[in-house]
Amino acid sequence: MLNMRAPRIDTAFRDTPAASRLPRVRAVLFDRDGTLIVDRPGPRSASVEPMPGARDALSRLRELDVRVGVVSNQPAIADGTLDEDEMRATHRQIEMLLGEIDVWSVCPHARDAGCACRKPAPGLILDAARRLRVAPRECVVVGDIGSDVEAAQAAGARAVLVPTGVTRAEEIANAPVVARDLTQAVELIVWGAV
Ligand SMILES: [Mg+2]
Ligand SMILES: [Zn+2]
Repeated sequence: MLNMRAPRIDTAFRDTPAASRLPRVRAVLFDRDGTLIVDRPGPRSASVEPMPGARDALSRLRELDVRVGVVSNQPAIADGTLDEDEMRATHRQIEMLLGEIDVWSVCPHARDAGCACRKPAPGLILDAARRLRVAPRECVVVGDIGSDVEAAQAAGARAVLVPTGVTRAEEIANAPVVARDLTQAVELIVWGAV
């Protein structure tokens, strides 16, 4: 498969149209459920399970001085089935397993609230970019469904779809870049293929 060593990365994409048109990626913003961790219902902090390759993918980005964030819809907060302390406990658990996350950006609103942050709206991506002091176009969003991709595009960011069992065929067909797992997603980002 793809060779990730640095010299080859440089020669592979330095002169490509994408590299000249787009700024360097300075932050990667991950969807949480179904992307960084296995999506399962109920209280999570006791049962956080990283998706395959998650830890190494984040480590590789940090090594390359790329910031990492999470952009997550959590409507269970508005529903009253999850409180913010529980959510923060889950986030601490995720950081114990995957290392430090530079920014957490969460929409706590109901599905029908019409807020500006719930994906596919761009608010979470714009918020995370602002807090990281990077431009949206310097960000790549990695997620498992079409609304992650749409939120990225609405914010002016790039996107990689990593499909799971819940991803619909048309979401895969409409995604600008599709990777089979987080390892490949990060390879493509590092290579300048996104
Ligand atoms: Mg998801
Ligand atoms: Zn919201």
